[in-house]
Amino acid sequence: MFDALADRLEDAWKKLRGQDKITEANMQDALKEVRRALLEADVNLQVVKTFIAEVEKAAIGAEVIAGVNPGQQLIKIVYDELVKVMGESNVPLAQAEKSPTVILMAGLQGTGKTTATAKLSLYLRKQERTCLMVATDIYRPAAIDQLKTLGEQIEVPVFELGTQANPVDIATQGVAKAKEMGIDTVIIDTAGRLQIDEEMMLELARVKKAVNPDDTLLVVDAMTGQEAANLTRTFHEQIGVTGAILTKMDGDTRGGAALSVRQISGQPIKFVGVGEKVEALQPFYPDRMASRILS
Ligand code: GDP
Repeated sequence: MFDALADRLEDAWKKLRGQDKITEANMQDALKEVRRALLEADVNLQVVKTFIAEVEKAAIGAEVIAGVNPGQQLIKIVYDELVKVMGESNVPLAQAEKSPTVILMAGLQGTGKTTATAKLSLYLRKQERTCLMVATDIYRPAAIDQLKTLGEQIEVPVFELGTQANPVDIATQGVAKAKEMGIDTVIIDTAGRLQIDEEMMLELARVKKAVNPDDTLLVVDAMTGQEAANLTRTFHEQIGVTGAILTKMDGDTRGGAALSVRQISGQPIKFVGVGEKVEALQPFYPDRMASRILS
């Protein structure tokens, strides 16, 4: 496992041969390689720095295990630390004690928010839960149509009030509708812009305040790499997120965005999107992601 990183560490780690402890001094070359590997996996630079400091702390003083390649030993420490930072285990969706559970989807346009809204609904429907999807993106009529089409495809109702109503009213009425229909989960799709924009944030904050969601999920495109960090910071500071969905993990990214999102928000990634189809959603498992980042 992790052959590429192991090869690189091989040279860096030669210094350690014949020594019996990992020290700050003798692991510097190896840490440089780990740092480079994480940057290549698209982890944000700042996040890498914090992470390397943690690895260093975890590794200092460790006995070099006889018969074990010291490079492999450091990889194990890095892997364990990655899993730890990403939260050890899968964190499920929030579920309100009293129905309906309200899930708010946030993120930039094009990240896969609308698709993820449908994917989540289908995922819950398969667990015998009932869902209502709410279309609040009044700026793009196509977004409402897209959600309706997806709703028909997965047989989940969509609540919308066209493009003339305001998003706060749509969201509030959507939740009321779900209550009336006895539906247990409402997923609110919101408007996203191509870039972070003050007005979008204010509107999102107003919608959030009005519906008081149980889960506010930031949808992040894994292909955005380094940028995922800034995006997460801004959304988390301005609206407060309780989790994330990392989309487009079927692409060739190694998924470093996962570490950035988790470390910056302190909130768990709950799902990963692995394709354009509505079925292409998987729970997030930190150990699998750690393997991919180090692959
Ligand atoms: P929104 O603007 O954030 O609502 O984004 P959409 O849901 O409309 O998705 C934007 C594009 O990304 C569409 O072409 C989707 O099919 C595609 N997409 C969404 N999620 C995934 C994913 O997990 N993998 C891949 N390959 N494409 C995705």
